[in-house]
Amino acid sequence: MNKMEILDIIKEEDVEFIYLQFTDIFGIMKNVAITVNELERALNNDIVFDGSSIDGFVRIEESDMYLYPDLDTFLVYPWYSSFGKEARFICDIYDSDGKPFEGDPRYVLKKVLKEAEEMGYTVKIGPECEFFLFNTDEMGKPTLITHDDASYFDLAPVDLGENARREMVLTLNRMGYDVEASHHEVAPGQHEIDLKYDYALRAADKIVTFKQVVRKIAKNHGLHATFMPKPIYGIPGSGLHTNIYLYKDGKNVFYDKDDKYNLSKEAYGFIAGIMEHAKAICAVTNPNVNSYKRLVSGYEAPMYISWSCKNRSPLIRVPSRLDKNARIELRNPDPSCNPYLAIAVIIKAGLDGIKRGLKPCDPVDKNLYEITDEERIEAGLNLLPQSLREAVKELKNNELIKEALGGHIYNRFIEAKELEWKEYKSVVTSWEIERYLTKY
Ligand code: GLN
Ligand code: MG
Ligand code: MG
Ligand code: MG
Repeated sequence: MNKMEILDIIKEEDVEFIYLQFTDIFGIMKNVAITVNELERALNNDIVFDGSSIDGFVRIEESDMYLYPDLDTFLVYPWYSSFGKEARFICDIYDSDGKPFEGDPRYVLKKVLKEAEEMGYTVKIGPECEFFLFNTDEMGKPTLITHDDASYFDLAPVDLGENARREMVLTLNRMGYDVEASHHEVAPGQHEIDLKYDYALRAADKIVTFKQVVRKIAKNHGLHATFMPKPIYGIPGSGLHTNIYLYKDGKNVFYDKDDKYNLSKEAYGFIAGIMEHAKAICAVTNPNVNSYKRLVSGYEAPMYISWSCKNRSPLIRVPSRLDKNARIELRNPDPSCNPYLAIAVIIKAGLDGIKRGLKPCDPVDKNLYEITDEERIEAGLNLLPQSLREAVKELKNNELIKEALGGHIYNRFIEAKELEWKEYKSVVTSWEIERYLTKY
């Protein structure tokens, strides 16, 4: 879309407010709102904000940052506020010298995509996002209660959650987002919405927008949507399964009809690259203390660095009937990650595997939750990190992922996560109280 077309739409649709959006290094969406009168200035990349107030950005002394709206991300929200219609741009962030800001997660992804492009590749990403819808109390505060007893794919009596999910899908459609599927997930109150695959940068833009839309609509229904990976012990957590498609000259290069598993050399390289860097990748794709409470046995979340064409307990699943739509499904990411950074490190690792001609170990078609330690060691299966602390340690030892993130984000991210761990480690949890208070 060009400037003139955008100005026309804004006039036609009577847009009053325009949001200039970007995300901090943790993937939290930030907004600067402007009125239509200031649009000209915004489109000339002249809107400044104070970078020092954003997590992981810059110190006070170097704090002037510029927002460059990406015209391709323009959309008018399909709802009215009391002031009229609202539109948004997702922005790139530049410093006062006119250089892209290294702390901008979108820039990190763009850099990796450029590398892919230089190798002749185009990457598309199809995200499957799971989340919980919880009731709120009289004060509007989220609870951990749902009133639904539905489970996977249930057609149960339509409840509040189902209604909310339908409105979410319709709203996304009205925004031009194709929804591939949506369904109730295994746990009570848990839902999934799958966005149709799209170019990697657009997919990341869509994931952050998706979360915003889901939260807003949940709220309209008196519910709270959470993308926390494991809100409740003893039932499944929420993943962000990430489907990866790779193209060269418009052709899917993961597919090879002559291979036993219909996978190409590139596909094997990509899988092996992810497996090689999986532990460090986890720090980015599973970035919270809570993320590691999801990666445990029995809830369809991965625990081991493995791949399979058959079952759903490994890290990477290759759908069994491959064709020209061949893809790889990475199952460890959770929806609390920063999608720009997560997609960037996944692609970086995959490309590394292709460049080095890496080959993965044999696929494991067993249910990995039932595998014994001996069998696991014999099969050469490594565990994913068991905690945020372990994942951050791996990140600190991984040069490739450091290169993908760039020094600025890499250092800020590690600093923040070490602090998070340190605080968590010293907190006394209710589990400890229950277990020890009366025992000792
Ligand atoms: N909720 C599971 C997870 O944590 C995934 C369930 C599924 O989609 N099969 O990843
Ligand atoms: Mg799914
Ligand atoms: Mg699912
Ligand atoms: Mg899936």
